[in-house]
Amino acid sequence: MSAKKVIFVVADGMGDRPIPQLNRKTPLEAASTPNLDQLAKDGISGAMNTVDIGVRPGSDTAHLALFGYDPNVYYTGRGPFEAAAVGIEMQEGDVAWRGNMGTVDSDLVIKDRRAGRITDVTPFAEEMDGTIIDGIEFILKPGSGYRLPLVMRGKGLSDQISDVDTHVAGVKVHEPEPLDDSDEAEFTAKVLKKFLERSHEVFKKMKINKKRAEKGEPEANYLLIRGAGFKPSLPDFKAKYHLDAACIAGAGMYKGIARMLGMTVFDIPGATGKGDSDLHAKVEKLKEAYDEYDFFFVHVKGADPLSHDEDYNGKVKFLEKFDKMVGELRQFEDAVIVVTADHSTPCTLGEHSADDVPITIYSAEVRDDDVEYFNERGCAKGRLGHITGMHVMPIVIDLMGLASMFGA
Ligand code: ZN
Ligand code: ZN
Repeated sequence: MSAKKVIFVVADGMGDRPIPQLNRKTPLEAASTPNLDQLAKDGISGAMNTVDIGVRPGSDTAHLALFGYDPNVYYTGRGPFEAAAVGIEMQEGDVAWRGNMGTVDSDLVIKDRRAGRITDVTPFAEEMDGTIIDGIEFILKPGSGYRLPLVMRGKGLSDQISDVDTHVAGVKVHEPEPLDDSDEAEFTAKVLKKFLERSHEVFKKMKINKKRAEKGEPEANYLLIRGAGFKPSLPDFKAKYHLDAACIAGAGMYKGIARMLGMTVFDIPGATGKGDSDLHAKVEKLKEAYDEYDFFFVHVKGADPLSHDEDYNGKVKFLEKFDKMVGELRQFEDAVIVVTADHSTPCTLGEHSADDVPITIYSAEVRDDDVEYFNERGCAKGRLGHITGMHVMPIVIDLMGLASMFGA
């Protein structure tokens, strides 16, 4: 146990661009955020590109970088992270795909990649989970909405397999093909083909699809998968930093990443991963666990889905709610507090962008700067200057008094 604690807060997709309807202010600039501003006054601030300048980060690669795991080294594709998000614990040699339940016609032409945005794929996952073909186990656990990741488990698998999902409707599903000459890739493609055919036959006959057809809804009859990847070999957070870490999050993806790094993951009633999430409950959990851990990863998802929906007013409101949570964190006076985002999600785009994000790092001893406002333009004037995500953990470790010296 180290003396100082770390509270590492990531507000997903918090960064934005000037919004014409907000007088060219960003949602952070338009929101009333006295607690964030106070933190910026008391801490050191900067502008940060989590992955790199000019790179549009996914949430997964951004979080790897924020925790000091270079995504260019450790990232093995989206599949394993989607699998982790639904609680599948991958083993060495497993291959994971991200997947959607989609709709195909009798010629296997894709009619709808998301089966009419079906809201629950649990029955389909349950029907095929645990299937074994040629000694390979197929593991399926439902994700949110139409999402259904797949993990193949067994000997001699490869992740060098082409996507089945064509990414567009109106064309025939692709057969999985080996992407190299290895026996493993050939075997994996062959077994996967059998599974996709079998599952299609099973899905077609399910009662739930008869009901969907009667209601005029597209049948969910094909598992469209893409982004094959092996389990990433991520060094344990505890081994890397000698810190006992805990994750306080609502959304599955972030719990999944935390689990991959060996953090303790709490289940918090009321933490939904959406705009309605109970942020106060997260602080209560933090308080309860404060003595037991050194490092708390607090993830707040709400701003990102609102940004994808281009709901800038909703984002302003959510950031004001987030501000109250940050105010509550000041009760932990001895902690190093980091507040930042994993990427910008401008409401004018509805997508992640490569714009930098604001970051403030507070500790009682920090050599503070003249920044007065926590937002994109305000923080960019700070002492931290322009950093990348990989810089954050070394700065935090130094402020904890734990950095080892480089040289004599
Ligand atoms: Zn994100
Ligand atoms: Zn997003």
